[in-house]
Amino acid sequence: MTRLPTKDIDRLAGLVAGGDRKALAHAITLAESTLGPDRDAAEKLLTKLLPRTGQALRIGISGAPGAGKSTFIEALGTYITKTGKTLAVLAVDPSSQRSGGSILGDKTRMSLLARDPQAFIRPTPSGTTAGGVARRTRESMLLTEAAGYEVVFVETVGVGQSETAVAGMVDLFVLLVAPGSGDDLQGIKRGTMELADLVLVTKADGDLSEAANRAFGDYRGALSLMRPKYLGMPPEIARVSALSGTGIAESWSIIQTLWQKLKSAGHLEELRKMQVRSWFWSEVQTTLVEALGTDPAVAAEAGELEKAVLAGRLLPEAAAGTLIRAFRKA
Ligand code: GDP
Repeated sequence: MTRLPTKDIDRLAGLVAGGDRKALAHAITLAESTLGPDRDAAEKLLTKLLPRTGQALRIGISGAPGAGKSTFIEALGTYITKTGKTLAVLAVDPSSQRSGGSILGDKTRMSLLARDPQAFIRPTPSGTTAGGVARRTRESMLLTEAAGYEVVFVETVGVGQSETAVAGMVDLFVLLVAPGSGDDLQGIKRGTMELADLVLVTKADGDLSEAANRAFGDYRGALSLMRPKYLGMPPEIARVSALSGTGIAESWSIIQTLWQKLKSAGHLEELRKMQVRSWFWSEVQTTLVEALGTDPAVAAEAGELEKAVLAGRLLPEAAAGTLIRAFRKA
């Protein structure tokens, strides 16, 4: 992609704000790019669109591979669009972490939603680390909001770093667990459970019904022992079957009720402020570290200091101090 003149950014912003899907896809590509000129353009674009963001209900959806995420997203997503709402689906994992995470892979995974004019699906960006993808997913989320999407799903595979990253950018975090699999209580990390506002036991149908009931009981017991994220708002739990449709309407109703409660108690405003504050400071850190590498002498010194730290000759804190002094002089 090449440098976009300001008037083109203005035009792109106008198209995104008007809900033009092609323009939105293009804007997200710009935000995902790591090239300097694209970053500049994305920043200008996002700055223009910022006043139009923040209205959507932001939901993180997590679960181990095979837990039933894409099938559930397809079922809940089409249910939501039938109620007249618009939905954007983003994914936060580097494609290497999932099988068939290509564009085609994601579109085939959710073929009904992919054809739904009320829905916008953005496939997994590839070739980046979880941290890098999370950074850009926040921006993609803002872009979909600016384009008018009322509900945003951010999907992640249940692996540590990306789950925390997703929980740090959404209003509600939904954890999907499959019955009779490695997802039984012992298999789920406590940290992951603590992130959840809603736990959904998937595949509650046919032969799996009984196992789903058992998992439901186990999780309900475990959740009741945990300290709730918000006072007086313990995490919810329900059983769903994307195949039969059981629990889909109920899940949506729980999510909406939780969101209303968060809003009326003032928690949502607080949560979003906290998220944007930590986003700011993490950008400060990333930008500073990037800046350190731009002066060749400072970059060389950083390499030497790292070696000294690794060899046990220097304390990390002392090395950091030396490096910052060198940077300030450069
Ligand atoms: P993901 O890896 O978490 O996205 O999981 P998928 O949505 O791809 O589902 C994994 C497997 O579980 C697939 O074989 C699905 O057909 C199956 N599955 C998903 N949802 C249900 C359900 O509601 N009931 C049953 N019985 N199987 C399901």
